[in-house]
Amino acid sequence: MSDQTADAGAFLRRETDNLLSACTGCARCVEVCPVVPHGAASDADPRQVIGGVLDLLRTGRAPQAAAADWLHGCNGCGDCIPACPENINPRRLLMLASMHDAARECRTPQLFRRMARSIKLMIAMQLLPADYARLFMPVRPRKAQMVFYTGCNALRTPHLLFNTMAILDALEVDYEVAGGPSSCCGVIASKWQGENQVGGRVTVHTLKRFGSFEPEKVLNWCPTCEIHLNETLQGFGQRQFEFDHVTAYFMSRADQLKQRFSHRIPRRVVLHAHHGMPEIGRNVEALLRSIPGLEVVETVLESSYTCGGSGCSRTPALQGQEHQHLVDRVRAHGADALVTLYHGCHMAFIGLERTEAFEVLNFTDLLAQALGQTPHPDRLKSLRLMDNWKSIVEASQPLLQKNGLSVDSEWLERHGEEIFAVAEFKGGLDCLATEAPKGHSHSVHSPSHPATYEGTP
Ligand code: SF4
Ligand code: SF4
Repeated sequence: MSDQTADAGAFLRRETDNLLSACTGCARCVEVCPVVPHGAASDADPRQVIGGVLDLLRTGRAPQAAAADWLHGCNGCGDCIPACPENINPRRLLMLASMHDAARECRTPQLFRRMARSIKLMIAMQLLPADYARLFMPVRPRKAQMVFYTGCNALRTPHLLFNTMAILDALEVDYEVAGGPSSCCGVIASKWQGENQVGGRVTVHTLKRFGSFEPEKVLNWCPTCEIHLNETLQGFGQRQFEFDHVTAYFMSRADQLKQRFSHRIPRRVVLHAHHGMPEIGRNVEALLRSIPGLEVVETVLESSYTCGGSGCSRTPALQGQEHQHLVDRVRAHGADALVTLYHGCHMAFIGLERTEAFEVLNFTDLLAQALGQTPHPDRLKSLRLMDNWKSIVEASQPLLQKNGLSVDSEWLERHGEEIFAVAEFKGGLDCLATEAPKGHSHSVHSPSHPATYEGTP
């Protein structure tokens, strides 16, 4: 990698300048944006809204309320991309503007530290030590045909990652696993903490880690990593491998998968998918439709590119409407299951089993089952369905101890709900920042940061 491409600050400045010189400020992107009616930009002149974002990119000045609300409400749905008459990607423009805005004023300081600690806690509550190590501990590089890249936050829902590995195993793929906070894509530092140079170094570190396996492909799980590495940072860093979503690879081997389906699943399901990267939803729908006996009665598309803090949660009013619509459709069909797409979606919906007649499954559960395998236990769902945090903590302590984590039960009872709600993305969870709560003996340490992450406390 040349010094020039490794300099994230210079790269982002160049890309920003290119976008600024191409954008005419016509405001088509604001006019078609589905989040605008749900926030302070709804009554504003669309040209002033985009004007505020362009001004932030040009000068670093704080945007006025309407522009700031649009910027922070962007859920990544991508509806603005085909609308731009100048062939600019306005989603990318807003991602770059978010980085500039976070550099100006960070709303989620120490997010990486909080996130890494909460992920570590959540997987230690769910996995036996061997599985915990497989996801959390970096493996020694070796030549492997593929790398399965989990990203960071998907570790909170480990069962769907193990299901994905079971599908790769069934296809006899030679792969190694990379991911967790030690192989972050860099989006946390860049977009959320406003530390572009640190984020760039984290990205380069992770790309080098992929390269150390000399893979043909990196099969990615996380939609946020997909946008950050393949869109926002398009052209940054050297890659000797293809980087694509794991479902695209499954589709490329759909015939072999179909031949291996040994188990009928006579069920009617509704698939939940997103506008943001529609090809991934289409891949999953096609894979599910190839399972013998399974009927996908409807795919309900939601705005945003994912559920969760980077996606639909940025516009709570729209999220509320769309999630209610999804539940209504599953009920109206009398479907057996709601099928989730990503980890953020799975976390958003598993609690519905408490009150609804249908199951909530991830698409990987169904693929693993069709392959004649027992899906990996969804322990997160089991915990979520418990009545109270006292029970959750009691049920989790044996695994925490087996994984070598000593966590005070009363502390976990107090903070567990926020940890499971990923509240650090809303600027919460101070308990996981620098200071441990006084009088409590929890000793949850963040994992080693990548060597390039020394800028983060
Ligand atoms: S990004 Fe495209 S649609 Fe949006 S204001 Fe600029 S030129 Fe117009
Ligand atoms: S990506 Fe979606 S939410 Fe974001 S600006 Fe474009 S249309 Fe609006």
